[in-house]
Parts: sequence; structure tokens; C-alpha cells
Amino acid sequence: MDHQSAAPLPPHVLVFPLPFQGHVNSMLKLADLLCLGNLHVTMLVSEYSHSRLLRHTRVHSHFARYPGFCFRTIPDGLPEDHPRAGERIMEVFPSLVSVTGPLFREMMIDTDCLATQTRRPVTCIITEGVPSFAGDFAIERGIPLIYFRTASACSFWAYFCIPELTEADEIPLKGNGMDLLVKSVPGMEDFLRRRDLPSFCRVDEVNNESLQLIKIETRKTPRAHALIKNTFDELEGPVLSQIRAHCPNLFSIGPLHAHLKAKLAADPKFSSTHSSSFWEEDRSCVTWLDSQQSKSVVYVSFGSITIVTKDQLMEFWYGLVNCGHRFLWVMRPDCVVGKDVETQIPVELVEGTRERGYMVDWAPQEDVLAHPAVGGFLTHSGWNSILESIVSGVPMICWPYFADQMINSRFVSEVWKLGFDMKDTCDRVIIEKMIRDLMDVKKDEFQERANLMAKLAKRAVSEGGSSYCNLDRLIKYIKSMIE
Ligand code: UDP
Repeated sequence: MDHQSAAPLPPHVLVFPLPFQGHVNSMLKLADLLCLGNLHVTMLVSEYSHSRLLRHTRVHSHFARYPGFCFRTIPDGLPEDHPRAGERIMEVFPSLVSVTGPLFREMMIDTDCLATQTRRPVTCIITEGVPSFAGDFAIERGIPLIYFRTASACSFWAYFCIPELTEADEIPLKGNGMDLLVKSVPGMEDFLRRRDLPSFCRVDEVNNESLQLIKIETRKTPRAHALIKNTFDELEGPVLSQIRAHCPNLFSIGPLHAHLKAKLAADPKFSSTHSSSFWEEDRSCVTWLDSQQSKSVVYVSFGSITIVTKDQLMEFWYGLVNCGHRFLWVMRPDCVVGKDVETQIPVELVEGTRERGYMVDWAPQEDVLAHPAVGGFLTHSGWNSILESIVSGVPMICWPYFADQMINSRFVSEVWKLGFDMKDTCDRVIIEKMIRDLMDVKKDEFQERANLMAKLAKRAVSEGGSSYCNLDRLIKYIKSMIE
């Protein structure tokens, strides 16, 4: 027997994200980093996510450089033409529980936990935790379990406190007293209003299905061996300390996109990062940005799930055209309710857009935010978008749509002071004013804060930085599981 074949096989990590763009983005980045740490990784994604990745990215050729990496797919139980967005987004969860859960179990049992001649049976499962079936399976089989809750630490902490919030009668919100300060999320008593709580709290009944799901599953987090957060200590340190009291084995290793970029840049074999977009990236907008002045453009994007009504679309459009600044606007093909929008656009909007605007279906967002022409970001405050904006030093106007976005936007405006929170309004006059304030009146103030935070983010993922050291620790920890 030669030495090579006798070498012990590395640990084998199963990475299993929720089937949404933002979640797949961050879990793929984690998978990449684990591969760079010489671990075997199976990335389990929904068939729908996988077909989108195959159609619009080169993710397969990127990962082909890691012999220890492979994709596996599993159905999410929804028909191909289900929107998986907007108001119907929560339909994904019962489908995952009833269809994906049993298939997951069957797959794991039939394959001896994905063992092959060159791979151990899975030695660690990294998954989101909501719904709980993959975690349940791990616990039942004694496989080490790590939760990776991909959204902000501040939203996770608010979810964790739902039992206390309910006990204190602060939720369900029922739309009352939305500006009252919330007292049952430790550390946030001075600035968190009821309207800033994650949208699942905006219900009339404590028995609401989504509220219950998020409450029960979040509270189970301490059963895992560890918790990963895509954030960094310098950004969310106080919140991370609160979480640590319940989940001591906490690894804050973000911003993951910057972390991966730094690692790939340091390795001559791997020159570039890659896209994991579910839509075709239209790079013509980067060429358009190339011809714009420094920090002159507002970038507008509401992520992969948000939908807007026609009225909201018009308010944004007038606000953007009337503010006089140049704008790059991502208008996902499925993001406006109703299909006949194009026929109804007033001529002043068409002309204002022709003069100062550029629209695409989907943009290479990381590159756009890093472009010197971009001076502000009008965002739905999805966590990946916020991190990408922070790393690029771009101040934000937040228009949260649902879930964690409600609390993320409060942190952007009140805690980090990186921009404005526009939640619960959609008015052309306010939009125009906020853009002018962000891009002109308070430009220097916000830019200074944004530059500082960008520096801290980059330092966190550089050698010796907090996230860099935590990732190192995480990889050693996963390796120690097979010793
Ligand atoms: N994104 C992109 N191009 C776009 C819009 C968004 O690549 O035109 C990416 C963005 O960079 C981010 C992700 O899609 O990584 C959206 O995730 P986020 O957490 O911000 O919001 P979600 O889509 O989950 O609501």
C-alpha cells in the first residue's frame, strides 16, 4: 500500500442552505472557504437553485478546482413556475418540511451519509436550522451539527428573544404603538422600536404559523455544536456577546464575500471569485458606470425576493428622477406586481431615465457597489446587500420589505449611522429628499462613517483579523471532530 492511499480522508462537511438567492450566496462562499481549508464539502441545493446556477453562472467550473467538492440536489417540493418570492415566499417552508425533509432522510440513509470510496460519511452538517429536519437528523445520528443562520446577528438575537417579547406582551404587534421602544431584547432597549422588529412579529395572533416557526426553531439553536454568523465583531460585537451567552461556540467569520475574495487573492492558483446569481448578470451597467463621475450614482436594488406594487414603483421612479442624481436601477423581471406596467409610464419618467438613469434586470452587485461611480445605495436592506455596501464604503437608504430587513435598517441608521431608514413609507417627496440628503447635504458625514466601517470590515478578514482568526478556528474545530 502506498502512503497516499493510506492517508486519512479529510472531514466531510455537508453544507445545506435554504433555497433562496441570499442564503445560497453566503453558503456557497462558506463552502469555498472550507474547500480552501482542505475539507471535503458536499453542497446540497434545491433543484430549482441548481438549475438557476447552471443557467446563469460558472459555479461548476469554479468549484471543479477542488477535488473534494461536489454538488447534490434535492427537490423543494414546489412546481417549477412557483414564484418563490414576494407574498408567497413563506409557502416554501411547509413544502420543505413535507417534501424535502423525508427525501433528505432517505438520501442520507440510502447513501450511508453520502459516503463514497474517496469520501467519509458526512462528519459535520452545516445548515440553516429553519426548518429543523436536517438538524434533527444530525442529532439523531450523532453527527456534529453547526447552524449557519445567514442573516444579521441583530435579527437573530431579536428572533431568539421572541418568547420574552411575547411574555412581556410586546408582540404580537397587531399594528399598535409601533413607535414605542421595545424592552425585551437585551442591549437594544434604547433604540429598537416595535416597527423595527422582524416582520414576523407584525401579526395579530401569537399562534401565527411563521412566528411560531421562527420562534421554536431559533430557540433550538443551542442544541447545535456551534453557530456561524456572517458578520464581524467590530460591526455587531455587543449583539454577538448577547448571543454568546446562549451559544458560546459562536464563529463570526464575515463579511464572507470579502473574506473569500481576500483568501482567493492571496493564493496564486485562484485568481478570481465567481458569481452565484439566479439571474443573468447584465454587465453593461458596469460599462455605463465607467462613464460616470466619482460617487455620482445612486444604485437601487431590492434583492431577490421583494416585490413592489405599481404605486410603489411610481413613487420610487418619481423620487429618483426628481432628485436629479444619476441612478442605476435593478428591476428584476418578476419584481412588479402586474405585467402591464410598461404601457403606463409617464413621459417625464421616460425622459428623466433616458437622461440620468440606467436599468437592468439583474446586476453584478458586488462589482457595482465596489465601482467608484456609486455614491449611495437604495436597498431593501437584505443582509448580503448591507454587508456588500459596508465593504465598499457606500452609504445606504433602507426600504425594508420583510423579515430581518426591518431590524437591519434600524441598525444602519441608528447604530452604525451609515444612512437612513425609510421603513413604512413610500413617498416620492421623501425618497427625493433622502437621496439629496445622502448624496449632497450629509454626504461627508455618511461617507466618513462608511469609509471607517469598510476599513474595519477589510481588517476583520485580513490575516490576524477577528473573522480571519475565527474561520481558522472553525476549520480546526471541524477537523477535530474526526480525531
Ligand atoms: N444581487 C445581485 N444582483 C442584483 C441584486 C442582488 O447579485 O441585481 C445579489 C446581492 O449581491 C446579494 C443577493 O443578491 O448577495 C441578495 O441577498 P440579500 O440578502 O441582500 O437579499 P434577499 O435577496 O435575500 O432579499
